[in-house]
Amino acid sequence: EAPVIYAVTPTYARPVQKAELTRLSQTLMHVSNLHWIVIEDAVKKSSLVENLLARTNLNHTHLFVQTPVPYRRKGSVNYSITNNCDFFITNIIMISMFFNLFSFFFQPRGVEQRNAALRWLRKNKTMNDKGVVYFADDDNSYSLQVFDEMRYTKEVSVWPVGLVGGLMVEKPILNLTTGKVVGWNSAWRPDRPFPIDMAGFAISLQHILKKSKAYFAYNVSGGFQESHILQQLTVRENLEPKADNCTQVLVWHTRTEGPRLTEENKLIARGIHSDV
Ligand code: UDP
Ligand code: MN
Repeated sequence: EAPVIYAVTPTYARPVQKAELTRLSQTLMHVSNLHWIVIEDAVKKSSLVENLLARTNLNHTHLFVQTPVPYRRKGSVNYSITNNCDFFITNIIMISMFFNLFSFFFQPRGVEQRNAALRWLRKNKTMNDKGVVYFADDDNSYSLQVFDEMRYTKEVSVWPVGLVGGLMVEKPILNLTTGKVVGWNSAWRPDRPFPIDMAGFAISLQHILKKSKAYFAYNVSGGFQESHILQQLTVRENLEPKADNCTQVLVWHTRTEGPRLTEENKLIARGIHSDV
C-alpha cells in the first residue's frame, strides 16, 4: 500500500478563497491516496469550506483555529467593511499595502493552522501509518508530478520551487557524485539555515511522529518559518533530493492578485451582499 500524502492547507476568508480552494481541490482530486487537512484561520468552520469539502470526493479533515490577535493580519479581517467613497477606499488600499509589507516581515502566515495539523497528525496517527506530510498553501500551483516525487520520502525530501525569493526558481544545489544537497542557489537571505520555500519540502509521517516537539513559531522573522521547522527535523546532509536531482520545477509559489471590488463595495454599502 502506497504511503498517504497528508496535504496541509491553511486558508482564510477573502474574495478569492473559493476560487483558490476549488482550483487546489481539483488538483488534489487527481492524486491517489491523499488526505487533505484544511485548517481555517477562523473562530469556527465556514459553510463555504464545509460545502466545498463535501463536494470533493477527497479524504479530508476540516479544522479551524484563529491566528491570535497580535499576529492577525489587519488587511484581511473583513473585506466587506469598506464604504462607497473611492477616496476612503484608496486610503484602505494604502493602509493595507503598508500592513501587507509589515506583516510580511513580522507576521508569519499559517503558523497556528499548520501547528493544528501537526497536533492532529500526532494525536490520530501511529508509527504503523505510512505517510508523508506536505504544506500546500492554497494559492500555489502544483504539478501532479510533485506528489509522485514526495510520496516515498524517508525523512525529509526537497526539490525546486518556481517564482520565489526574487528568482524564477529557488533550488538545492547537489554534489552529483554523492547525490547530496551541498548548498542552495537562493538569492534572498541565503544565510537562512534552510533557504527554501514551504512548497519545496515534505516530511515523512513517521518522522513527524518521532520528532514530536517540532512546531512552527511566531518568534521567527518572515521567510524563516521553513528554516525554523527544518532545523528541528533534520540536517542538510540528510535531505533527500527529488525531481531529477532537483532539476525539475514541479511547484510554483504563485500569488493571486486581490480583485478590485470598488463597485461591489458600493452594493455592500447599500446592504446588497453577493456570494460567488
Ligand atoms: N493564511 C492564513 N491566514 C492569513 C494569511 C494566510 O491562514 O491571515 C494562509 C493562506 O491561505 C495560505 C498560507 O497561509 O494557504 C500562506 O499565506 P500566503 O499565501 O498569503 O503567504 P505567502 O504566499 O505570501 O507566503
Ligand atoms: Mn502564497
